Amino acid sequence: MRRLFRLAGFLVLGLAGCVPVHAQLTTKKDPLAPSGQAAACSATDASSCAQAAAKILPQVMGASPLEENLRRLTDEVGGRVTGSPQMAKAVEWAVAAFRAAGVDVHTEKYKLGVTWAGGNTELLVTAPAGVAHVTPPVGAAPANDGFSLRAVSEAWGPATPRGGIEAAVIDIGDGSADEFARAGSIRGAILLAHTEIGTTWADLFNEYLRPPDIIERALQGGASAILWMGARERLLFYRHTNSLNGEIDRIPQAIVAREDAMRLARFVAAYPGKVRVRLNLPNQIGGPVDQENVVSEIRGYEKPDETVILGAHLDSWDFGTGALDNGCNAALVIEAARAIKASGLLPRRTIRFVLFSGEEQGTVGSFEYVKTHRAELDKIRAMITFDSGIGRVTGYSLGGRRDLEAGLREVLKPLESWGSNNHTYDASFGTDNFDFLLEGVPTLVANQEEANYLPNYHAASDTLDKVDIRELKLHTALAALTAWGIADRTEPLGKRLSRAEMETLVKETGLDQQLKALGYWDAWLKGERGRKP
Ligand SMILES: [Zn+2]
Repeated sequence: MRRLFRLAGFLVLGLAGCVPVHAQLTTKKDPLAPSGQAAACSATDASSCAQAAAKILPQVMGASPLEENLRRLTDEVGGRVTGSPQMAKAVEWAVAAFRAAGVDVHTEKYKLGVTWAGGNTELLVTAPAGVAHVTPPVGAAPANDGFSLRAVSEAWGPATPRGGIEAAVIDIGDGSADEFARAGSIRGAILLAHTEIGTTWADLFNEYLRPPDIIERALQGGASAILWMGARERLLFYRHTNSLNGEIDRIPQAIVAREDAMRLARFVAAYPGKVRVRLNLPNQIGGPVDQENVVSEIRGYEKPDETVILGAHLDSWDFGTGALDNGCNAALVIEAARAIKASGLLPRRTIRFVLFSGEEQGTVGSFEYVKTHRAELDKIRAMITFDSGIGRVTGYSLGGRRDLEAGLREVLKPLESWGSNNHTYDASFGTDNFDFLLEGVPTLVANQEEANYLPNYHAASDTLDKVDIRELKLHTALAALTAWGIADRTEPLGKRLSRAEMETLVKETGLDQQLKALGYWDAWLKGERGRKP
């Protein structure tokens, strides 16, 4: 996932101002530098940053295990839902790949409260008599008492009782308050909600922002289930979740293949009040179980207790093989570690490479990481994450922190011509930086062009063939140099913000509206999530 929310657009917050730059050269020698020059990336020694680039870039751009690593993860491990046996295999893959890269690696366990697996979802039109015995569509199971529509369960959605739910279908259009009012009583009904096909990050935003209100209205009116019209064309299945905290959702929900959902909507319009369906969601719910984040590091020579994290999530959904989301960026993190290690350079601060699990269930793994490492948060100098597929990186989203920009520009100076220095100051929920951001830690999320991300988002078509390996190598170089530069600067990129500063940031970036819309607001107010008051 990267659910990108920009409610407040590009509001700018001038919080801490730039840390003064000191013309201070390290005494530690770069082991590969012939003249013994220091390798540090700041205003006064930007040329050393360029030296690091000259060493790291050839490692990334030349022959490398990147593509083969990604092939193994996607084609051999395949889709890897957190809590599943495939996820355990993915963790093994990551540990082996980090080891092969020559860096120290370990895993960190946490408890995942709930596991979930989708069963064989059935959606059958059972009435009105006369139309409900139509020949089943190609590929659908033959039915005696109706015809099938192609559907899959919402992820982390509840199972229906054995045999399913049979009820009248009410079309609620876009699910607005007006549409619900027009629908009248929805008690016991199965609701059909329409969707738009997304082509922009803003559309993806809406895919997550609209459902909470619709679910609330459905529950208040006593509906028994919700059918979401698929938002991808040509019968493409994808997993979507509306439960953003790792818990089972409050009402059964299914995504109906777009064309089948439109057909159902036409039936409902043609036979008002008479169309009934049976929805069977035999989802398997279990847990709690142990899950792991995979953590690797290259220790800093001068300030080993200060860290820069380069992270990505390793888990994915199950219909495809999680190549764009987020296998390519998991492979990127490992490859960045390999390239820095192979360059022979040692950073001033520690660079930690983290592959999180549980991201798709609501950034569960990264939240657990933050809780486990709470005592170190003052010394995490930056958390960098990649989670938007393979579209060209235009810069980083700095989580409402204009104070980070000057230092970042120095770090990226060697790559100035790549057009990756157009940073934004938005703060949003949507990927693993979330809890670091709420804790006041400087976070950088790669801003990427949409490219082929949205048509394949969480879908059966998210497979290795969608990944442009050349682009992935460029992103790997960018990620490695960003992490390297921040870790090796004389001065920190930015400070950790206090609760009071975070409260200002949350308000000024519009993050407060997101937290409210998505159900995180109480946890933020109580200090259960984010920097404690
Ligand atoms: Zn993702």
